[in-house]
Amino acid sequence: MGRVRFLTFGCKANQYDTQVLREALGRRGWTEGQGDAELVVVNTCAVTAEATRRARQQLRRLHRENPRARLCVTGCLAESEADALADLPGVEWVLGNGEAKLPVNFLREIGEEVTPEELGIPPGICEFTGHTRAFLKVQDGCDMTCAFCIIPRVRGKSRSRPLEELAAETRRLLAAGHVEIVLCGIHIGHWGREWGLHLSDLVRVLADIAAPAQAPWRLRLSSIEATEVGAELPAIMADRPERVAPHLHMPLQAGDDRTLKAMGRWYGVDEYLAACERIRAQLDRPAFTTDILIGFPGEDDESFSNTLNTVSNAGFASLHIFPFSARPGTRAAELGEPPSAATGRDLRARRAALADLGMLSANAYRRSLVGLEEQVVLEGSSGLCGRYQRLRLEGNFPGVTEQAAPGALVPVRLALCETQTFTADDSHGEDNSGRRTATSPSSATVTLVGLPLHSADHSTGDSTGQATGHSTGEESTVAHAPLPAAVPMPILSS
Ligand code: SF4
Repeated sequence: MGRVRFLTFGCKANQYDTQVLREALGRRGWTEGQGDAELVVVNTCAVTAEATRRARQQLRRLHRENPRARLCVTGCLAESEADALADLPGVEWVLGNGEAKLPVNFLREIGEEVTPEELGIPPGICEFTGHTRAFLKVQDGCDMTCAFCIIPRVRGKSRSRPLEELAAETRRLLAAGHVEIVLCGIHIGHWGREWGLHLSDLVRVLADIAAPAQAPWRLRLSSIEATEVGAELPAIMADRPERVAPHLHMPLQAGDDRTLKAMGRWYGVDEYLAACERIRAQLDRPAFTTDILIGFPGEDDESFSNTLNTVSNAGFASLHIFPFSARPGTRAAELGEPPSAATGRDLRARRAALADLGMLSANAYRRSLVGLEEQVVLEGSSGLCGRYQRLRLEGNFPGVTEQAAPGALVPVRLALCETQTFTADDSHGEDNSGRRTATSPSSATVTLVGLPLHSADHSTGDSTGQATGHSTGEESTVAHAPLPAAVPMPILSS
């Protein structure tokens, strides 16, 4: 036993896996250190070229800064590039995602004895160290074959964790004080297929679990495919909005049928948008967030323009934009280089256009939430509401002291905080002293704040070049309407 440091790259499933190892070593008496750690466990990600570059860079830095530390590399990159990692200075163990990463095997690999009692410890975790919200991995692996994705190769076929095991783990996490539990995995829409069950069966059971002293808590789903949401999940969310957050992260990847087909995705744009509409008909202002991959081989001006249109129609609360990078071992890596229109300057232009549209879409969504009652999980000085909006609390919240705040679930009413930045407008000329005489609005930042439930409306203004305003109630727009075609297409070279 000694001091161990953990570094995690990548997704929620990877962060969960790190917690499993943290608890395994903690039970053996290891304590956490930083620069003085004798053992450093680096749990890697291989999903993008950037993630792999950062992992290698981090391993080199760790060895430079603390040459005596023994490095143990786990995770997806350890699975896909084991030999190259093993050659890095200081790396003593390369344990992929399979059997080697199971706690018992992991302990044995690094030279720890495992007692018979430890062999009987139930799988899973007891808390999520350092986090207000706990991640709970409900399945691992993926059976699909998306052309760009290395995950099925490094995490294998889909395997679900049994419902009883997950229910027991949920109780432990609630007992540890977590007020939000995020169900994560690699392809959570496939949870339960081994037993003819659906994710909604799991959510229904978990949602019924009571926290100690009947304390409020909620579930949130991490990434789920739009085509796998079905009717049951939104029905549960609609029945129990306080217990299951009305938020769905549904990867779109591309808003163009030809590109989706080349990617090996199994749905078209119409099917995706129909799923959004169906869910919207069941739920009050759900938050849809998504991933978009840009620069996929074959993506031309027309297909990218289609993606902009689809994004405009879907009404996303937030976009994650990823530039395509060919991962060795994937089908996309064999499709050749992306066309020149999707590299360098043009890729940056596409990314900027999509980000602008994403911002407009997010602002429209935030405006639609004004006046809504929500529950906010406080994390530091801000908090996250069920509809996946980060906001700060304003006003007097009885019982929420600074000491009690982290981890509290606080009811609020959402209000808008809009900041308009003005810039000098040349067309209005100058006064006698040469100063600009007029300004014009250049950009708006729209954020939400949480007010006490019974607060009065209020608004504020700032005459120093910015205007701010909070409002509650009247501005609420419940219906979703496609955004106007407000974002021009980027200028792409031929
Ligand atoms: S569904 Fe596609 S993108 Fe998602 S993990 Fe599976 S192969 Fe990768």
